[in-house]
Amino acid sequence: MCGDFHWSIVTKATAPRGTFDVLPADAPRWQAVERIIDAACARFGYGEIRTPTFESADVFVRTIGAGTDIVDKEMYTFTDRGGRTLALRPEFTAPVVRAALEHNLMGSGALKVCYRGAIFRYERPQKGRYRQAHQWGAECFNVAGPEADVEIIALTLDVIRAAGAARYRIELNSMGCKRCRPTFREALVGFLSRRANELSGTSAARLKTNPLRILDSKDPSDKAVLSAAPTMDRFLCGACRNHFEGVQALLKAMNVSAELNPRIVRGLDYYTRTVFEVSSSDLGSQDAVCGGGRYDDLVEEMGGPSTPAVGVAMGIERLLMLAEASGSRLGEDADRRIDVAFVALDDESVRSLAPIMNAARENGIAADMDYSRRKIDKQLRDAGERGAKYAVIVGGDELAAGEATIQDLATRARERVKLADVERTLTARLRA
Ligand code: ATP
Ligand code: MG
Repeated sequence: MCGDFHWSIVTKATAPRGTFDVLPADAPRWQAVERIIDAACARFGYGEIRTPTFESADVFVRTIGAGTDIVDKEMYTFTDRGGRTLALRPEFTAPVVRAALEHNLMGSGALKVCYRGAIFRYERPQKGRYRQAHQWGAECFNVAGPEADVEIIALTLDVIRAAGAARYRIELNSMGCKRCRPTFREALVGFLSRRANELSGTSAARLKTNPLRILDSKDPSDKAVLSAAPTMDRFLCGACRNHFEGVQALLKAMNVSAELNPRIVRGLDYYTRTVFEVSSSDLGSQDAVCGGGRYDDLVEEMGGPSTPAVGVAMGIERLLMLAEASGSRLGEDADRRIDVAFVALDDESVRSLAPIMNAARENGIAADMDYSRRKIDKQLRDAGERGAKYAVIVGGDELAAGEATIQDLATRARERVKLADVERTLTARLRA
C-alpha cells in the first residue's frame, strides 16, 4: 500500500530548461569534434588550460562590464555558505586571464593557451541557444603584431574546416583603441541622439550610459537606425589603421578571404582593434559560430602588466550543427564499435569467458559481451552490426572440452581453441 502511494506522487525529474544530456548514441559526435579541436590547438602550439567552473562574480563583472547582456541578465550568480558572491562562468577569457596572472604565466614571450568546456548563461532557450552551452577557444598573449590576430583566425578556420563545415563566412572589423575610439563614440552618440525616438527602450537608455553597446543590439528597429550610423573605420588612428592593414595583408598571403564589415562589433568591454565573427545561414537565426578579437587592455585592467592579447571563442553546439548541415558525419563510425564479441550462452559460459574478455581488453582489444544469454544467432548479428571481426563462442559443448569457438565474422570460418589460448589467438588474428 505504502509503495503504491509513493508511486502515485513521484514525478520523473527532467534536465533543467536550456540544458541537454549527451547520450551514448550522441557522444561519438562530441568526442570526434573534441578530438578535432584538441588536435588543431596542439598543431598551432596552444597548451590547454582548465579553470574552475565557477569564479568570484567580480572576475566577470569587472571585465565583461556592466551594461552587457551577460552581466546584466545572463549570469548565474549565487552566494555560497561562506557568503562569497560567485558565478558560473559565462565565458572563459576573464578566468583564463585571472589564472595566468595568478600563476605568473605572463612572462615576456608569447603565451598561447586554449580551453574547452561548459559555459552558463540565463538565456531564452531556442535552437542553438542553451543555458549550459559549450565553448572552445584560444588566447594568445604578449604578441602585439598582426601575426597573432591572423594565427587565431587561421586556427579558428582550421577547426571549422576539419569538422567538415563548408558554408560559412568570416567577417572582420577594427574597433580601434583607447586613443581613437572616443572620437567615434562622440560621432555615434551625435547621430543616435538625433534619432533616439526610433531606438528600443534599452538602447535609448544605453545612449547615456554605454552607447557602443547599442552597436551590438539585435533589436530590428535599432538595426534599422544603425544601418546609417557612422562606423569605426573612418575614425581609426594611424597605429590602428596600420595594424588592421597588416592583418589583412597577412590573411591575403595565407589565402584567407575575410570580408570587411564595419558593422561587426563585439559586445564586451574589453575588445580593441581587430574583431571578427564567423557565421553561416545554415545555423538559422543564431547564425554566429564564433567571435573573437584583440583585447590589449584587459590584462592591465585585471591588475597585470600591460599585455597585448587576442583570442577567439566558438560554440561547440553550433560548430556541430554547422558541420552536420554540410553533410559531415562526425563520429559516425565510432558508435559502440568493437573488435571482438564474446558470446556466452549460459551462466557458466559467462563465468569462463569474463576473465578472458577482461585480459583481451587490458591488452588493447575493444571487446564486449552481451550478458543476455540470448540465442547465438541474435548475439552474432548484433556483433556484426557493431563491426566485430571475431566472435568467441562458449556453450555447453565447448565448456565440456575446456575450449571456445572463434568465428571469423566475415568468412564465417570457425576454429576450436583451448580457453587458455583464446586471447593469444585473437591478438595474432587481429594483427594479421
Ligand atoms: P550570440 O550573438 O549568439 O548571443 P554572443 O555574442 O553572446 O553570441 P560570445 O559571447 O561571443 O557569443 O560567445 C562565442 C560563441 O559562443 C558564440 O558565437 C556562440 O557560437 C556560442 N554561444 C554563446 N552563447 C551561447 C548559448 N547561450 N548557447 C549556445 N552557444 C552559445
Ligand atoms: Mg549572447
